[in-house]
Amino acid sequence: MSEQSIDTKCQWTDKSYQDQYGAISFPIYQTATFSHSRVGDTAGFQYTRHTNPTRAQLQSIVAKLENGTAAYAFASGMAAINAVLELFAPGDHIIIDSDLYGGSVRLFNEIGKKNGITFTSVNLSAEDVEPYIQENTKAVYLETPTNPMMNVTDLEALAKVTKAHNALLIVDNTFLSPYFQNPLDLGADIVVHSGTKYIAGHHDTIAGFVVVKDQELGDRVEFVLKTTGAGIAPFDAWLIIRGIRTLSVRMDRAQENAFAIANFLKTCPYVKKVIYPGLEEHPGHEIMKKQARGFGSMISFEVVDKAFAYSVLENVELFAFAESLGGTETLITYPITQTHSDVPADVLAANGITDSLLRLSVGIEGAQDLIAEFERVFSIASKSPRCS
Ligand code: PLP
Repeated sequence: MSEQSIDTKCQWTDKSYQDQYGAISFPIYQTATFSHSRVGDTAGFQYTRHTNPTRAQLQSIVAKLENGTAAYAFASGMAAINAVLELFAPGDHIIIDSDLYGGSVRLFNEIGKKNGITFTSVNLSAEDVEPYIQENTKAVYLETPTNPMMNVTDLEALAKVTKAHNALLIVDNTFLSPYFQNPLDLGADIVVHSGTKYIAGHHDTIAGFVVVKDQELGDRVEFVLKTTGAGIAPFDAWLIIRGIRTLSVRMDRAQENAFAIANFLKTCPYVKKVIYPGLEEHPGHEIMKKQARGFGSMISFEVVDKAFAYSVLENVELFAFAESLGGTETLITYPITQTHSDVPADVLAANGITDSLLRLSVGIEGAQDLIAEFERVFSIASKSPRCS
């Protein structure tokens, strides 16, 4: 059989978890535990901290979307990333990208280091990683495109280096979702997601995923999940399964809007820089054309100054000034005080995360309405005494 399209995979149901009624909407198995008829016998499930049919159904769908062997569903993206960190031991060294979601930076700096792991931060989109590899380097961890600077790294090229040094390549694929990019196909060993974002898609729940090709690695992740109790609850798993049904149409529509907004922002005199990999002038544009099926709908842009940024954030009405991304509603975020507030000041400065940088998660509203809202808030900001 020919390879199914990703659109079809979003509608797929793993029949091996289906009950006798054949419900089309997979049931929420809202139970903590499962009964046994005999010692040593189970119907496949024992206790929901370990596993649960609704979670198992979700994991099976996400594994298929990422072309993985197995996926594990966590209570949050950070719980998923932390489970991956638990694969390493004191004395191990991990190379991390210099631009990452602030929560990941906090996890590595505050918890990873406490547990005896050392980290080297490298701009993987611009620098050769090889000189940074040490004898104890066990992994390279990155996002592509990165949050929030949208840097793009060539995954196939990087995978060649990590494989040659027996290091795991770990990719946070949150910004593109499996709809636009499958890092495991490009040589990555582990994919992580904040499932809260595009996969769930409605700003209504928190989730995370780890996806692997190698089942032995998967077994180690599953051990961490069940031992630490970090797995997703049945109702949340069900919400994500429902969200995935529309992943493809949401991603396409949001990307269409992102192109329209990026091109509009380029024409605005108060916008100094528009960072969107869909634009031909973006340095990662050609790599993304090669390794992804789309450019996503995250845009970062720099306005004239801090006062202008504040005015925009405080005057938006059609969409919200809020953290997070990937939902149907557009959100505008201020990385320096929100998502990246725990990133050390020197790293923020080196990455270009300034007090005039705004990040936009473009939703599926009408593009013209979003543009009209920008015109309105920009006109307020440009006349505002705070901008003088
Ligand atoms: N990875 C990226 C790229 C993110 O943007 C986020 C959250 O914003 C996370 C991981 C963490 O995910 P969660 O908030 O679901 O814990």
